[in-house]
Amino acid sequence: MQHLTDENDRMLQAFLFRQRQSCEVCGGREFMIGRQLMLMPAMVQPETPGIAAGVPLVIVTCELCGHCRFFSAAKLGVRTPWDTVPKTPPA
Ligand SMILES: [Zn+2]
Repeated sequence: MQHLTDENDRMLQAFLFRQRQSCEVCGGREFMIGRQLMLMPAMVQPETPGIAAGVPLVIVTCELCGHCRFFSAAKLGVRTPWDTVPKTPPA
């Protein structure tokens, strides 16, 4: 299970504060940053059903209404186990 570091959490808190972000649903300005990374599954090709892929995400939830926003873990600089998997060159 992959979690955000304290540094990742501080970076996202600072980003939300700098951008003066408000919830697009209710206008709330208090957010909870999920410490556990989530994986958004990607569609797989029918010819390779056993191979799964996905995008690691950080979820930011509005404290008032619960609306969730997703941020790319890679763009936040969060390292994941997939970062160490060597890329297979195209055939
Ligand atoms: Zn809200």
